[in-house]
Amino acid sequence: SARETEAGRRAYELDRAHVFHSWSAQATLQPMTVLRAEGSYVWDGEGRKLLDFSSQLVNTNIGHQHPKVVAAIQEQAGKLCTIAPQHVNDARSEAARLVAELAPGDLNRVFFTNGGADAVEHAIRMARLHTGRKKVFAAYRSYHGGTHLAVNVTGDPRRVPNDFGDSGVVHFMPAYPYRSYFGSTTEAEETERALRHLEDMIVLEGPQNIAALILESVPGTAGIYVPPAGYLEGVRELTRKYGIVYIADEVMAGFGRTGKWFAIEHFGVVPDLITFAKGVNSGYVPLGGVVISEAIYQTFAERAYPGGLTYSGHPLACAAAVATIEAMREEGIVEHAAWLGENVIGPGLREIAQRHPSVGEVRGLGAFWAIELVKNRETREPMAAYGGSSPEMNELVAALKAAGMLPFANFNRIHVVPPLNTSEADVRRGLEIIDKALEITDRYVA
Ligand code: PLP
Repeated sequence: SARETEAGRRAYELDRAHVFHSWSAQATLQPMTVLRAEGSYVWDGEGRKLLDFSSQLVNTNIGHQHPKVVAAIQEQAGKLCTIAPQHVNDARSEAARLVAELAPGDLNRVFFTNGGADAVEHAIRMARLHTGRKKVFAAYRSYHGGTHLAVNVTGDPRRVPNDFGDSGVVHFMPAYPYRSYFGSTTEAEETERALRHLEDMIVLEGPQNIAALILESVPGTAGIYVPPAGYLEGVRELTRKYGIVYIADEVMAGFGRTGKWFAIEHFGVVPDLITFAKGVNSGYVPLGGVVISEAIYQTFAERAYPGGLTYSGHPLACAAAVATIEAMREEGIVEHAAWLGENVIGPGLREIAQRHPSVGEVRGLGAFWAIELVKNRETREPMAAYGGSSPEMNELVAALKAAGMLPFANFNRIHVVPPLNTSEADVRRGLEIIDKALEITDRYVA
């Protein structure tokens, strides 16, 4: 409506005058305005309806404005908006019970944070205090958050300007079959070689100094590269062998994204700590946390845990989490994500890959897929260099938007990450838009 458009214009002016945005050169930004969103759709400042194939930052797993979650937030707001973390609160207790129930093994206690980065910070702090060691092992080609330690365990270009050499983080090469650092030609070879490399690095760095190893169960922003069979089992064995706390970062992959509640369930592995955020309540109110094993809990049973947050276990966020988890169960949303992956997105993307020479690989699970674009299938030269964009990728993204889709793009990849409850028809429509737009990148194939 005209009123909405007017409100959007005013918001845009004020944004450019006063809002400082994440990860951006401020003056050259041209952010999209969104005042309205529903389910798998958002409306831009001109009132154009776009199919959200990004789930924002891969967090609106339940879509926008789910009525049950909105109602739970409203109800909690009417009852009690906030209460200090030292008190017992019913919304917090129930959210913790549900998260513990979903988590594997003996991970049974929940420390709530405001988001993913602080969950990572606290998980590492717990590991350091539990082991009395300092170093942290983390993978290249990973993302773990934007605060100082979280961005330093991150293995992507955003770490580099934040690395002051004080973080105690050691990066290793993860298993990544499509671009194997180890020259592997099969998944079995990649698993074996990546694990040998990891054990060598542990031994060379001195296991007596290594507190934690943090790994996304399926790395997200860095490329949704599903670990080959046996890799995470091997990581679990090595961390156990050397007394290292295994932190599974499930901030993006967790809460149904891969078609299971936690991605690590695909691999039958129980870590020592799980970090979560995003999908726990689809980001309707900021929430994250750490799920803690019995052994690590025991470290802090008689000795104070030296950490906390004013908003740990915020009632509005926890009420939203309870309603989200209940709605996901009632509506079979995690099952739907698994079904979409097996029957719609997976087969659809494999067909697209056959038709388009610019597609190097498609891969994923559930509603969590990547299309890796290349200039040459033999050499696998990426359509944009690592850490950058390219005119080809920019043209592709613009075409997707022009065709009515909001995509998630990273370097030479387009991620297919719609809300988990997106209808089959909408997912098929999104895949058609992608299919058509890839004619652009095909033109640059050499
Ligand atoms: N860990 C992973 C795997 C993530 O994908 C993210 C965010 O994208 C984070 C941690 C950081 O979460 P937040 O942005 O909520 O701090």
